[in-house]
Amino acid sequence: MQIINGFFDFFIPRYCPSCKKKLELEENCICDECLSSIERVDNGRLNLEYQRKFASTEIISGFTSLFVFEKDKALQLFIHSIKYNKHFLNAKYLGKLIGENLKQEIMNWNIDIIVPIPLHSLRKADRGFNQSKYIAIGMGKELGIKVKNNLIRRIRYTETQTNLTLKEREENISNAFQVKHKRSIEGKTFLLVDDVITTGATTRECGKVLLENGAVKVFACSAAIAE
Ligand SMILES: [Zn+2]
Repeated sequence: MQIINGFFDFFIPRYCPSCKKKLELEENCICDECLSSIERVDNGRLNLEYQRKFASTEIISGFTSLFVFEKDKALQLFIHSIKYNKHFLNAKYLGKLIGENLKQEIMNWNIDIIVPIPLHSLRKADRGFNQSKYIAIGMGKELGIKVKNNLIRRIRYTETQTNLTLKEREENISNAFQVKHKRSIEGKTFLLVDDVITTGATTRECGKVLLENGAVKVFACSAAIAE
């Protein structure tokens, strides 16, 4: 990797998307200083988030996440650069970091297939890029688990969630998903992957549709959790 980075750095210098500093040869996608400034999720916080988002519905059997999403900090700028510059290599790198750091926990779940949360096709046309797909690919490669991008699709257009209350979000998202290949779902254990999980409503809906179609268990993972 360093030889390749060195070769390309000579012609096209790489920059940290968070602080804009030129990346060193051994730095991948984000500088060490920005990476170490991102707060990691501890076990207490993880338990609390699971209780708040997933415990009551019995859809998601377990949940893990690597970072805490903080406004205007390094991770937000990094994820922003992935979304708006279609930086799929950076998204894959985020997936690799998740795989490296959360390996033990995820391997205990005996996951058969990793599934990224899908974008709606209208939204896809608008932005053309599902960052969760590339995060999932990076994770799958690191963990040696198969990734399937097209098992679930959105069938109903859901407005952007940002300005809705919790209850409105639930209604907005319910029955928004459909599975495409039922036979690939039956008897399998899944890990749903998203970039940032806020209320968890989208993740629960995807989990519900997988269980209704014969999945054994569904777990969830995100790069970050937000308030
Ligand atoms: Zn930086």
